[in-house]
Amino acid sequence: MPRLEGKVALITGGAGGIGSCTAKLFCQHGAKVLIADIQDEKGHLICRDLGPTSASFIHCDVTKELDVSNAIDGAVAKHGKLDIMFNNAGIIGPKIINILDNDAAEFENTMRVNVLGAFLGTKHAARVMVPAGRGCIINTASVCSVVGGICTHSYTSSKHAILGLTRNTAVELGKFGIRVNCVSPYVVPTPMSRKFLNLEDDDPIEDVYSNLKGVALKPQDVAEAVLYLGSDDSKYVSGNNLVIDGGITIV
Ligand code: NAD
Repeated sequence: MPRLEGKVALITGGAGGIGSCTAKLFCQHGAKVLIADIQDEKGHLICRDLGPTSASFIHCDVTKELDVSNAIDGAVAKHGKLDIMFNNAGIIGPKIINILDNDAAEFENTMRVNVLGAFLGTKHAARVMVPAGRGCIINTASVCSVVGGICTHSYTSSKHAILGLTRNTAVELGKFGIRVNCVSPYVVPTPMSRKFLNLEDDDPIEDVYSNLKGVALKPQDVAEAVLYLGSDDSKYVSGNNLVIDGGITIV
């Protein structure tokens, strides 16, 4: 049964692994989807596969307020409203583990894409959702929102900040009928994690799962969680961090 019939969703980072999988699942459940990303060619290809009546692409650098504002206004101009904002664009940065070897520019860049991007997406989505009196915002955090030491300090700082942004804006926007939640996956095989794990595009990621405590997440597992948070099935869920990690981070 379709769970997003008549809904309009904007997905940042929609040309990537988790974003494109979520776009596909949303379309299968009856949503109209706008993919917003800096990878124009890939984004257009994904939309072509999903079908022009279901999906369209808009170039959007989430660190640029005008791009984000235009993407959201574009969704409203095309479909008359915005029901779901998925702030999913993100970068992992270089494999610098020790803060002694890092510099301010790398830290700032990771924070700009991962945190400023979600801030701008939330701000401008709320701008059109508040008058509608309803809406749903979902941010992609990571298990790095609740533990340290898996990734770099920059990435971990940015994902902890996503959790703070989620909780605070859930309070701020709740009175307008807007729910805000985040998802926190463990390692998912996408271009981002392949880069971090030093895998080539065609290397089977399953080979490294033995080092990942056997939790073999797929982008679909994250997309299903986002579908739940974006649908009315979660109508009383707000300010939550849905951790998708097979229980690894509670140990
Ligand atoms: P990905 O690299 O496949 O996708 C990320 C997408 O974000 C890409 O399409 C990229 O073009 C886009 N992007 C990057 N900078 C952007 C910018 N400035 N403006 C707009 N778009 C931009 O990686 P993914 O794994 O699909 O990552 C999606 C989200 O999931 C990220 O926020 C990431 O931190 C998070 N995450 C990933 C994993 C994992 O293991 N893959 C685990 C936990 C959380």
